[in-house]
Amino acid sequence: MRFGLSALFLLCMLLSADATEIANGQTALISLPAGSEARLFYEGKEIPLLRHPADPAKQIALIPVGYRTAPGEKALHRLTPEGDTLLPLRIVDGGYPSETLQVQPSKVKPDPEQQKRVSREYSEAMKIYGNFTPKRYWSAPFAMPMQSNVTSNFGTARLFNGSLKSFHSGTDFRATTGTPVDAVNDGVVVLAKERYYAGNSVLIDHGEGLYSCYYHLSRIDVKVGEQVIKGEQVGLSGSTGRVTGPHLHFAVMLQGIQVDPMQLLSTLNALFDAPKPEHASSR
Ligand SMILES: [Zn+2]
Repeated sequence: MRFGLSALFLLCMLLSADATEIANGQTALISLPAGSEARLFYEGKEIPLLRHPADPAKQIALIPVGYRTAPGEKALHRLTPEGDTLLPLRIVDGGYPSETLQVQPSKVKPDPEQQKRVSREYSEAMKIYGNFTPKRYWSAPFAMPMQSNVTSNFGTARLFNGSLKSFHSGTDFRATTGTPVDAVNDGVVVLAKERYYAGNSVLIDHGEGLYSCYYHLSRIDVKVGEQVIKGEQVGLSGSTGRVTGPHLHFAVMLQGIQVDPMQLLSTLNALFDAPKPEHASSR
């Protein structure tokens, strides 16, 4: 009886300590012992088990929760040779604020020709994000794409020109035109071109289903297929595409899902922190 309870407690600690509660648009992290034969599924999709970047005794799983996921009780299915377990995952409301923006009317109501271009660019991007590169290109913590203030966070509900409803799918950094924009970590350039909404865009594959995106650039300094390292300049900030003025829009895609870049990168970077010494129990 006693053993059963402590084993159950240990299982809960191992599997759900970090992941019981997560907001829509954010990424949950689960740690498992290395060599675990478990398979994880969320919403019918298998979640890959990945090497912990700093602790060889562990594996990690990242569960990206879509922005439009309604708050409520969800579960991860954990399949092992011994059977199927449900791990509760509670989705909470991200409490994102809202804002109204004015942009060029053609960027809210594209004509049929422009609409065709938008669809083409969307399919092209989705095809890229759907590719899962098994290799992890990075091995050190992530950096910021530039040292500047954030002017708009991920998730803000947006109303363009009083009609188009959308949400902010990345993080905006304050930048005048011509400010260097750097790769946040090692990877391979998978797109480098001008697009209708995003303007001059660079997409970097970091491996294992993680992509970083740099939009509205005034200049692109890399080519598709090129390997980049963390801190390498990929272009200069600008105001191309659907913008209200020059800035850097930085975004990430994980397993085909757009999530809060700042929350994901800080979650990944926290894996490099040395484990905190256990507190001696204070009487
Ligand atoms: Zn933005």
